[in-house]
Amino acid sequence: MTDRFTRQDPRHQYPAPPFPQQPQEPPGLVQKMTPAPDHGEESYSGFGRLLGRKALITGGDSGIGRAAAIAFAREGADVAINYLPSEESDAEEVLNYVTKAGTQGFGLPGDISEEEVCRKLIADAVEKLGGLDILVINAARQQARETVADVSSDDFDRTMKTNLYALHWLAQAAVPHLPPGASIITTTSIQAYEPSAHLLDYATTKAGIAAYTKALATQLIEKGIRVNGVAPGPFWTVLQPSGGQFQEKVETFGQDSAFGRPGQPVELAPIYVLLASQEGSYITGEIFGVTGGKGIA
Ligand code: NAD
Ligand code: MG
Repeated sequence: MTDRFTRQDPRHQYPAPPFPQQPQEPPGLVQKMTPAPDHGEESYSGFGRLLGRKALITGGDSGIGRAAAIAFAREGADVAINYLPSEESDAEEVLNYVTKAGTQGFGLPGDISEEEVCRKLIADAVEKLGGLDILVINAARQQARETVADVSSDDFDRTMKTNLYALHWLAQAAVPHLPPGASIITTTSIQAYEPSAHLLDYATTKAGIAAYTKALATQLIEKGIRVNGVAPGPFWTVLQPSGGQFQEKVETFGQDSAFGRPGQPVELAPIYVLLASQEGSYITGEIFGVTGGKGIA
């Protein structure tokens, strides 16, 4: 376990490349990753900042969403997570951590690239949690393609549906349920600002998410609801080896950050907690870059 509270050189706090190649079919499973990512399982301590809150997190089974789910539960929130049915084993692990934290956890599997699934997901979360005041729209599809010719219409469609349409369907369905003081958090990316050649469709959705987040924030503050986005740089999650990067890139993943290593999902947890909690009371319409020193334009 890495002690996250002892002062230390952050460049050496977590594993650095080279990493082994480790191809998986998307969406992939955390359990097959080497080295194992740190989602806060052993390392995140809560301080009661989300006592009694009710959160829904898409992509809450793994990666950044899993780190948010564990942190939210340890801060006192009940947590519902959405994921794809093939990710049930990852989801069960997360739900165990939530229950161990002493709060309630609910698994709500379903493919959010379909509108009806999104609308039902919000309805089910509201029913199970007994309301909703934190919505983290975080799930995404990322599949690297060599050239523009290689991005099929099916690729383009699935990426848009999963990353952008679902954002709209979920936000639209959730807003009527959200009380003043509620928080919506989106996950965009450094790709919104510095797009990679091999992530044409994905980067386009991330720029769209950033714009949608700011526009929605402007609208929803009139209801006392805050809306913010997080823009990570390279984070060690299963998204990358399961087709998000070519395998040669997995070997050197994060090397070109100022830290010489990728971020670990738990290193984003404090930002999601801040944005979700009342401590973020004056923060809306912002995109928080956590890029490992690469900056956000
Ligand atoms: P991840 O693979 O652990 O999480 C992504 C999740 O999306 C999956 O667990 C899966 O449950 C969900 N998902 C994908 N398609 C879905 C569908 N059709 N229906 C329902 N769920 C679906 O990877 P992650 O890196 O934690 O990704 C979380 C967010 O972080 C994404 O929005 C991603 O774009 C963003 N992000 C990641 C990085 C990085 O380096 N890992 C960098 C910038 C942004
Ligand atoms: Mg997953």
